[in-house]
Amino acid sequence: MQEYLQDKVFKLISETADEMGLETYVIGGFVRDLYLQRPSKDIDIVTVGSGIELAQQVHKKLGRKSKVNVFKNYGTAQIKVGEWEVEFVGARKESYRADSRNPIVENGTLEDDQNRRDFTINALALCLNKERYGELVDPFNGLTDLKNFVIRTPLDPDITFSDDPLRMMRGIRFASQLRFFLEERTFDAIARNKDRIKIISKERIADELNKIILSPKPSVGFILLETTGLLELIFPEFIALKGAETRDGVGHKDNFYHTLAVLDELATKTDNLWLRWAAILHDIGKPKSKKFDPKQGWTFHNHNYIGQKMIPGIFQKMKLPMNEKMKYVQKLVSLHMRPIVLSTDEVTDSAVRRLLFEAGDDIDDLMMLCNADITSKNPEKVRRYRQNFQLVEQKLVEIEEKDRIRNFQPPVEGNEIMATFNLPQCREVGDIKAKIKDAILDGIIPNEYEAAREYMLEVGKEMGLKRADVD
Ligand code: ATP
Repeated sequence: MQEYLQDKVFKLISETADEMGLETYVIGGFVRDLYLQRPSKDIDIVTVGSGIELAQQVHKKLGRKSKVNVFKNYGTAQIKVGEWEVEFVGARKESYRADSRNPIVENGTLEDDQNRRDFTINALALCLNKERYGELVDPFNGLTDLKNFVIRTPLDPDITFSDDPLRMMRGIRFASQLRFFLEERTFDAIARNKDRIKIISKERIADELNKIILSPKPSVGFILLETTGLLELIFPEFIALKGAETRDGVGHKDNFYHTLAVLDELATKTDNLWLRWAAILHDIGKPKSKKFDPKQGWTFHNHNYIGQKMIPGIFQKMKLPMNEKMKYVQKLVSLHMRPIVLSTDEVTDSAVRRLLFEAGDDIDDLMMLCNADITSKNPEKVRRYRQNFQLVEQKLVEIEEKDRIRNFQPPVEGNEIMATFNLPQCREVGDIKAKIKDAILDGIIPNEYEAAREYMLEVGKEMGLKRADVD
C-alpha cells in the first residue's frame, strides 16, 4: 500500500515518529476506504506512546501551515493541514462496565488497540515507520472480509455489541453504505443484544440512522434494522406500517415495503436528507386512518394530515431537529397526495395554481416525492399515472411562467385595504385579502396590481364598505 501513502503529510508523520522512536500506524476507516477506493481526507493515526506528543511535534515541523487542537481528557490531538484532518491517539486498551458505553481506558499495544475496534474491516493498520513503511497489520483478516463484502466483529460479537451497543447501528450502517453483508454470527448477536441500544443516546442513534438514510439503497439498512429487531425499538411508528390485511377478499398493500420502495427510488434522484425523510414519513399516518368500508374497500382518509401532525412527536422523540427542516418534511407529507389527485382528475389551471401557491419553492421536491410514490405492481396503472403526471408537470411549468405563483405575494397589501376603506386591523381586511388571493388562484383576475386593486374595490362595495380615499 506504499503507493497510497505518498502524500507529504504521511512522510512527515513517518519521519517524526522515527525521530521520537514511536511505533506509528494509519488505522481504521481511512485504511478501509483506501482499499475500497473511496478517497477520504480524515486520517486516524495511532501510536504506541503519546498521540498528543507526536501531534505536537508534527505541528512544530509544519509551522503556521497547520492548526493543532489538543483534547487532553481524551488523550487525542487533531491537526488540520490543507484538506487533511489528522487525528492522533495513543494505542489503548479498553474494558467495559455493564451500565455504560464509556470504557475504562489504559495505554496498550497496537494489538490491544485493534482488539477494541468494531469491525474487522475497521481494524486494518498500515505502518508508517520507515523500516516497515506501508506494511499492513491485519490480525483479523479484515482484507479478506473487505474482498468478500463482509461485516464481522474482530472478537466475540456478543461482547463487542454488549460493550458498546452503538456498534450495532454502525454495523448496519456500514452494510447499507457499502452494500456489504452482516456475517451470520454478527447478525445473530445484534438480534440478541438489541435491547442494549437503550443505553445509547438518541442523538447518536439519529446520526447513524441518518447515514443509513443517506446510503445509496437505504432499504438495505432498514430491512436489517427490522429483521434484527432494532427498528421496533428506535422507530416503532415505522414498524406499524407493516402488514397487509385482507377482508372480504380485499387486501391493501404493505405500506412498510411500499415506503421502502419509494425511499429507494427517491434515493436514486436526490441526496437531500430531509426529502428522504419525507419519503419515509409520507404514509406514516396510514395505520391511524385505516378503515374498511364494504363498498369502497380499504380507505386511509386524511392520512396525509394525520401524518403531518405525528411528525413533531416523532422528531422530538428521535432528537431530530425541530426547526424549518421538520416543517419542510411536514409540508411535503401534507401535500403528497395533491399531484396524484390532480393527475387523476382533469388538470385545471386553478388546481395547479393552488398547488403552486401552497408548495412554493418546494414544488420540485414535492413532484420528485410524488413521482417516486407511484409504485404499483400493475404496469398499465403505472404508465397511466406517469402519463397524467407529466401533464401536471407540464402545466406547472406553463402556469408558473405565466402567473408567477410560486412565491406569490398578494399584489394588494393589508395597509392599502385599511387606508382605502378606513378600517382598523380587523377580520374584514383578512377576508378581502383572502378573496383577492382566491380570485388570482382561480384565474378570475391576473396576478397584477391594477386588476387586484379593481377587484378589492368591488369586494369592498359588495361588503357595504365606504371608500375613504374619495369624497
Ligand atoms: P465514518 O467516517 O463513515 O463515520 P469511520 O469508521 O470511517 O466511519 P469513525 O466513525 O470516525 O470513521 O471511526 C474511525 C475508526 O474508529 C473506525 O474505523 C473504527 O476503527 C473505530 N471506531 C469508531 N467508532 C467505534 C466504536 N463505537 N467501537 C469501536 N471502534 C470504533
